Amino acid sequence: MKNNDLILFENPHFIVDMMYARRNNMVGRAVYVEIGFGNKAYVHKKVAEKLLSIVPVLEEKNYKMRICDAYRPPLAHSKLLEIIPRAGFFAANPERSNHCHGTAVDVCLTDIDGNNLDYPTQIDAYEEKYSRQVAAGNFDEFFNHLKKARHDYTEASDLQIKNREFLKNLMETHGFSSIEHEWWHYNIADFALYPLAEWKNGEFF
Ligand SMILES: [Zn+2]
Repeated sequence: MKNNDLILFENPHFIVDMMYARRNNMVGRAVYVEIGFGNKAYVHKKVAEKLLSIVPVLEEKNYKMRICDAYRPPLAHSKLLEIIPRAGFFAANPERSNHCHGTAVDVCLTDIDGNNLDYPTQIDAYEEKYSRQVAAGNFDEFFNHLKKARHDYTEASDLQIKNREFLKNLMETHGFSSIEHEWWHYNIADFALYPLAEWKNGEFF
């Protein structure tokens, strides 16, 4: 079985809020619900271990961590690509997406009540107006907005930058690596080391 190392991640210090299981996301569709996957955070067991190692910090700071994407079924990735078929947002195919290997998470920190801390953008740089524009085939304003998602974007508020840098430092000191253009996205080692996991009708294969 290729899915042996993927486990369902559930923990009271984490809020599972998969953005593609709801409609307020950049594609404007609940793709994970459409395919029957729903709001579930499956991750590679090594991702789960690293996330759990963060718990003492969450307890100390009185934070929770919101997980907005984790394992992504290739079936869902293909649908997302159909909706936003532009380089620079979704990986060009499921094989190239760390999410489809269960080795990436999209996360932010929240207060103890689940309110997101202040960051330079929402996760996925989501805003309803950009979602509507993208649905109409107009990508320009959104792709311009995406510069705010970068770790080197400096025009955000001091608090937003502090929160972004705290998250990056937290994740990197617990075994994750960041990517320069999305402050919310964290990987474990190179996805090529881990197999792509397919999912359909409730089964991994
Ligand atoms: Zn991601």
